[in-house]
Amino acid sequence: MSASGPDAAESKVPGSRLTIYILVAIVFAIGLALGAPHTAMRFQVGGEIFLRLLMMMVVPLVVASVMSGIIGLGDVRKLGRPGLAAVTYYAATTFLAVMLGIIVVNLVEPGVGVVDPAQLETLSGERVAELEQAGPDSLGEILENLLLMLFTRNLFLSAAEANLLPLILFSIVFAGMLTTMGTRVTAITGMIVQVNDALLNFILLLMKLAPLGIFCLVTARFGEARAEGIFVETLGQTGWYFLTVLVGLAFHANVTLCLIYWMFTRKNPFRFMAQMSQAILTAFSTASSSATLPITMESAVVNAGISKKSVEFVLPVGATINMDGTALYEAVAAIFIAQAVGLELTLAQQGVVAVTATLAAIGAAGIPEAGLVTMVIVLNAVGLPPEYIGLILSVDWLLDRFRTAVNTFGDSVGAAVVEKAFH
Ligand code: ASP
Repeated sequence: MSASGPDAAESKVPGSRLTIYILVAIVFAIGLALGAPHTAMRFQVGGEIFLRLLMMMVVPLVVASVMSGIIGLGDVRKLGRPGLAAVTYYAATTFLAVMLGIIVVNLVEPGVGVVDPAQLETLSGERVAELEQAGPDSLGEILENLLLMLFTRNLFLSAAEANLLPLILFSIVFAGMLTTMGTRVTAITGMIVQVNDALLNFILLLMKLAPLGIFCLVTARFGEARAEGIFVETLGQTGWYFLTVLVGLAFHANVTLCLIYWMFTRKNPFRFMAQMSQAILTAFSTASSSATLPITMESAVVNAGISKKSVEFVLPVGATINMDGTALYEAVAAIFIAQAVGLELTLAQQGVVAVTATLAAIGAAGIPEAGLVTMVIVLNAVGLPPEYIGLILSVDWLLDRFRTAVNTFGDSVGAAVVEKAFH
């Protein structure tokens, strides 16, 4: 990456000016939303423009960076060890997040006697049917669906729908093949590497808009919630559930992930968090780890100094399948719902929740509230009807932001950990 220029040097300092601008933007955004929600909602267009600019970058960036990563390795077989390290990291942290969620929700018991299922926010019949359809029945079927997510019959359609997994798989195989073709394809390989560099530079440009874009995104969404009056009412009804998920997420990010980071790098994890703060705050503001990916990649290389080699694979794949925050939330939410409707889950059933929450998190796309949809998998598995999702619906837009921030931080720690496997 061309980390040259005054901005690159400046942003090496954790808590750089940009992060401070973003933080100030978020504080003002929430203030405006609470004070003048209808004015705040007018900023929606600005937020949408920023989101589109980020999303616009995702597909070209993923394809170019994965391909240029393989080309840089010179041989796809060199991906073996780091690839294995990445997959082990994703699986281990997701599992730890789910277990933590299960422990916290059993300790706090936010659902017991707190919620009256009669107050269930009703979902339209159409939505229930949609959710029921989305939920496969057996474990085999879930695994089959996950496997099929890797393949596409039309690369352009996948690109148009920002379905990253088939694009990543194709990029790895295609670039791996290019490395065996020697001088016959030097023009193509050279172009891919240059396109990747150019795209990363372009993201530096986009990041200058981040405080403004984030202000618009946050104020419009919080303003909408305030105008609908769901702030107080929502938190009153499901406040314990909300807090339970938050405590779990905070523990996972600040203890589990920080410890893992420290064990592998022997560096201060909180400094690393500060270095990744622009990505974490963008994740909070967009509620989408895919849309945040360009900023995550830029921050990891420029601010945190992780090598491009590690970032190029670990972050695109991580943004798509590694979702610690979502996994933790899926487990807490499913058990909360069971508690609220008086269904006592046995240890074996909690085990089923653990497995299906992991799969539901892997299957969730990195877009806003995707976890809410894949939650049907978990509910189905323990025999809870999908309409009970109504119990957690009203706070989901807000929780989504926190879990997306943890998802993004988890991916970044993964890149730092996998860095070790390259040496
Ligand atoms: N919004 C989350 C993400 O993009 C996914 C989810 O949990 O809904 O990472």
